[in-house]
Amino acid sequence: MFATLSDRLADTFKNLRGKGRLSEADIDATAREIRIALLEADVALPVVKVFVAAVKDRARSEEVSAALNPAQQVVKIVNDELVTILGGETRRLRFAKNPPTVIMLAGLQGSGKTTLAAKLALWLKEQGNSPLLVAADLQRPNAVGQLQVNGERAGVKVFAPEPGNGVGDPVAVARAGVEEARRTLHDVVIVDTAGRLGVDAEMMQQAADIRDAVSPDEILFVVDAMVGQDAVNTAQAFLDGVGYDGVVLTKLDGDARGGAALSIASITGRPVMFASAGEKLTDFDLFHPDRMASRILD
Ligand code: GDP
Repeated sequence: MFATLSDRLADTFKNLRGKGRLSEADIDATAREIRIALLEADVALPVVKVFVAAVKDRARSEEVSAALNPAQQVVKIVNDELVTILGGETRRLRFAKNPPTVIMLAGLQGSGKTTLAAKLALWLKEQGNSPLLVAADLQRPNAVGQLQVNGERAGVKVFAPEPGNGVGDPVAVARAGVEEARRTLHDVVIVDTAGRLGVDAEMMQQAADIRDAVSPDEILFVVDAMVGQDAVNTAQAFLDGVGYDGVVLTKLDGDARGGAALSIASITGRPVMFASAGEKLTDFDLFHPDRMASRILD
């Protein structure tokens, strides 16, 4: 992902190489090319506008005119602005003072939520936590079974509906799951919730009901980075309908343009916290805006 954006930006910077001073025309041409590169990569227009204005502003400033190597300084500015749109500092999970920490996942069906639940559980386990997975996605056929299989692969216990656990009622399952974690001394609970193929009022209501029932410490919105501009609209709909603290980008190993995913943090004001880039449970880590920016500008 982002290979085309990388190439485009590299070409832009090549045109500046060797220049001792940047003229107004150089700055304009560079800004125009950066704009095209970002738009072609599918970065949302409002984000592109702010990005390009910031780069232009700084390119005209002392920091560039006084620099020994103005071209290099422009690369640094673009790097900084990329880090900014990606949310700035790495945002780590906030753990509850009184365990268990409740993490709720929300997102569309197919976004990679169930896979992500197991990846996050394994990651937490490797950090010394004792997570419990709660299968409250009762919408998608076999979501519960899939979570059980993945939980087993991760070596993490899964709480699933069974007679007495509220079969058919995801809110009751979520609530019982958190109770179970408290009783069995798991310090983190990850609640997988149902998605639909598109934004849907009933799904939002269910997610909001689960949120109200379990009072999550963190709500993570899970989004497939491959879906393009729709990712931004879905992110906004979930922000309005459920609210969330952070974003998880999945399928970053895909070859789509991916720029929409890069816009989500800016548009929603919620940081990207984790990135998932593959089908293996270990293809998962904290999202580092600075590393992603360097990768794009490499
Ligand atoms: P859910 O409906 O949101 O629970 O989505 P799933 O977890 O079932 O994922 C949907 C599909 O995407 C499955 O085939 C997963 O194997 C696949 N998937 C999930 N995460 C990733 C990822 O990071 N990279 C790739 N390539 N595939 C993924």
